[in-house]
Amino acid sequence: MVETIVLDGTRVADRIREDLAGQVVQFKEKYGYAPALGAVLAGDDPASAQYVRMKQRACERIGITSKTITLTRESTQEDVDAAISSFNDDPAIHGILVQLPLPPQVNEERALRLVSLDKDVDGFHPLNIGTLAMKGREPSFVPATPAGVMVLLEESGVDIAGANAVVLGRSNIVGLPVAMLLQKANATVTIVHSRSKDIPGLIRQADILVAAIGRPNYVQGDWLKPGVVVIDVGTNKIDDPNHSKGYRFVGDVDFDAAQGIAGAISKVPGGVGPMTITMLLQNTVKAAWKLAEGR
Ligand code: NAP
Repeated sequence: MVETIVLDGTRVADRIREDLAGQVVQFKEKYGYAPALGAVLAGDDPASAQYVRMKQRACERIGITSKTITLTRESTQEDVDAAISSFNDDPAIHGILVQLPLPPQVNEERALRLVSLDKDVDGFHPLNIGTLAMKGREPSFVPATPAGVMVLLEESGVDIAGANAVVLGRSNIVGLPVAMLLQKANATVTIVHSRSKDIPGLIRQADILVAAIGRPNYVQGDWLKPGVVVIDVGTNKIDDPNHSKGYRFVGDVDFDAAQGIAGAISKVPGGVGPMTITMLLQNTVKAAWKLAEGR
């Protein structure tokens, strides 16, 4: 029986945010203004509005200022493009966040392409994603959730080079960039998706498993290789009459069943979630330094 280490993203995130708060103080002392994040929020999705608020609060707590341009559900491509362009042209804004999804009439790729590369703190500009995929090249910014996954892996102490890494899910925002980062770190990577065959068999080969499919408790304990390091990105709301709110969140991996088998597993909630926001803050501070120093 393996002793399973629980990876606490909140604890790691707090440590990084403390360091970032110190950097913000230094930045302000040197330049006389604070790093600033500009967010574009279009539409009336309550979850998107809540994410933007959470990101703003996180910014404020470490001294980053933030500004949001809020557009309606009816906003056009031109409205969204104009909002992004105004942040591109504003020297007081150092990082730009376009909250996805955009309303259906707005072309997401066109909008993301418009974000200045120097301010692309979400890392979703096609050029940043392309550079992420290339050997020997480094993107200006790595997307926040995948970057957070890599920090948690570092925290686990696992040796990534040469490890068999299985990434469950291949979305543009999580699975695919995580797979690219893992191969950059010299893992042997298998990407598993909805058309993959014998998913339990593929997962059983994993020394590292990153799960990002959005299916509650999908990965069973007996699919796990003893000692595997699991990073569970999945955030799934399930009904739970025993919980005061009547619901709770679980990951894509059965957390209880993984105990005694996995070498380490990240918490849900409190694992990748807090890391994601922290990586966005880190990218914003990095963007501010780079712009101020003319790099
Ligand atoms: P997504 O865009 O819906 O993509 C899901 C991926 O999973 C797709 O590649 C899909 O395959 C694959 N998939 C779905 N069901 C599958 C199955 N039964 N077997 C194998 N593969 C399957 O999701 P996402 O945006 O990447 O998010 C994934 C999860 O991570 C969600 O729970 C989300 O809430 C969570 N998340 C958390 C954070 C955080 O900060 N904590 C951030 C982002 C996302 P196909 O490509 O073949 O369709």
